[in-house]
Amino acid sequence: MASVSIPLSRRFADAVPEMAIPWAADDAPSPRLLVLNDLLAVDLGLDPDWLRSPDGVRFLVGRHVPEGATPVAQAYAGHQFGNYSPRLGDGRALLLGELVHADGLPRDLHLKGSGRTPFSRGGDGFAAVGPMLREYVVSEAMHALGIPTTRSLAVVATGREIRRETVLPGAVLARVAGSHLRVGSFQYARATDDVDLLRRLADHAIARHHPAAADAENPYLALFDAVVAAQSSLVARWMLVGFVHGVMNTDNVTISGETIDYGPCAFMEAYDPATVYSSIDHGGRYAYGNQPGITGWNLARLAESLLPLFADDEDRAIALAVDALGAFPGLYENAVTAGTHAKLGLPQGIDAGTLVEDLRTILRDNHVDHTSFHRRLATGAARDLVLDLAAIDGWLARWRALSPDTDAMRLVNPAYVPRNHLVEQALAAAVDGDNTPLTRLLDAVTDPFTESGDRAELAEPAPAGSGAYRTFCGT
Ligand code: AMP
Ligand code: MG
Repeated sequence: MASVSIPLSRRFADAVPEMAIPWAADDAPSPRLLVLNDLLAVDLGLDPDWLRSPDGVRFLVGRHVPEGATPVAQAYAGHQFGNYSPRLGDGRALLLGELVHADGLPRDLHLKGSGRTPFSRGGDGFAAVGPMLREYVVSEAMHALGIPTTRSLAVVATGREIRRETVLPGAVLARVAGSHLRVGSFQYARATDDVDLLRRLADHAIARHHPAAADAENPYLALFDAVVAAQSSLVARWMLVGFVHGVMNTDNVTISGETIDYGPCAFMEAYDPATVYSSIDHGGRYAYGNQPGITGWNLARLAESLLPLFADDEDRAIALAVDALGAFPGLYENAVTAGTHAKLGLPQGIDAGTLVEDLRTILRDNHVDHTSFHRRLATGAARDLVLDLAAIDGWLARWRALSPDTDAMRLVNPAYVPRNHLVEQALAAAVDGDNTPLTRLLDAVTDPFTESGDRAELAEPAPAGSGAYRTFCGT
């Protein structure tokens, strides 16, 4: 096959070279393509047939570097479970460069699991097949649900054995994002005390994600406003669909407003604000119901990092930051209220506050599956999911009195989300060489609003007695 040219730009590395360490991926002893996102490849101007070729697969693990490209490990800092780490960075990842998507906007092409870098600290730089496939499935499901997210282009098994609690097959995920700029990127730049670096990073973020901010009276404050808006909308969408991110550290919060880093994440089944899946989140800091508050906390860390750009006078800068951050609760509430009305098929203008509150109480007290309930509400089959019939009958009567639009509800309430037990089954089979359950699950969750009888079991919650679900970090 003729050699291909891949126009990877290096905007990030050129804008902030201090935060981009040129680096090479480790060798993959016997790379094998496990899954490829053909449609995304085409949107990025990449030929799926070439990506399947030996050179293409080597490209997807970072070993075939196109001419002109410079893979870099990106520097960032971050608060992890509330504790500040001044130097995190890509410890097992590389940014290959940026490509232009069919929508005309740039995308990062990034590899996860590509080996040690100067940021690896004690880690081995690798990733296992299972967690990389999980990120592939969940991120593509999120995208299909209309939730801003990084995308997954491919997972390649490297043929390398990696050591975790047991020995596992290694893999590299090729990930695509609007960018990998994080709150932690700004924390890193701020901590250098180099205001010029901070400004270049902010200018890069504005150009890339929030170009309208460049024309504002105070562009950096406008950048912050835009991130507040993007993140308030994002966390509202998570809440509406029952997504628990699991590790909302500031290094896992993007400036673009895309969901990033699918580690110990999961979709909530029985509705409960206290839901936690991560085995390392002992205090429940990142529980489902805490996610909006944590987003506000993370945005405050971004504001602190940007202070020197808001105003020369520190008191003035703080006043501006406090004022801008003050918009977050209202933006979040508006987004969640609008989304809840849509899920319940209700007109936007009405006050349904008590109705919504009462539903949450019923769902929580009766351990009702969040996804099934909202989906079945449109078809009239939701009542059976609730044990307390008197409570749900009373609630349904009040809801019906508002003439809900059940056709519209089917377009916003998914039938299929990547349920934990299904993801685990699919990953286990794929690790054993059988991709059938993975393909079947991907087909359902990437077309989540189209119900089909032959995949009915994919819409069901985990069978009773399957135990508390846990996902593990150090993935
Ligand atoms: P995460 O929890 O995946 O968001 O990662 C947090 C930090 O740990 C980042 O700086 C990662 O690059 C780093 N990290 C995670 N796993 C590894 C690993 N296996 N080897 C090296 N660094 C890692
Ligand atoms: Mg991370």
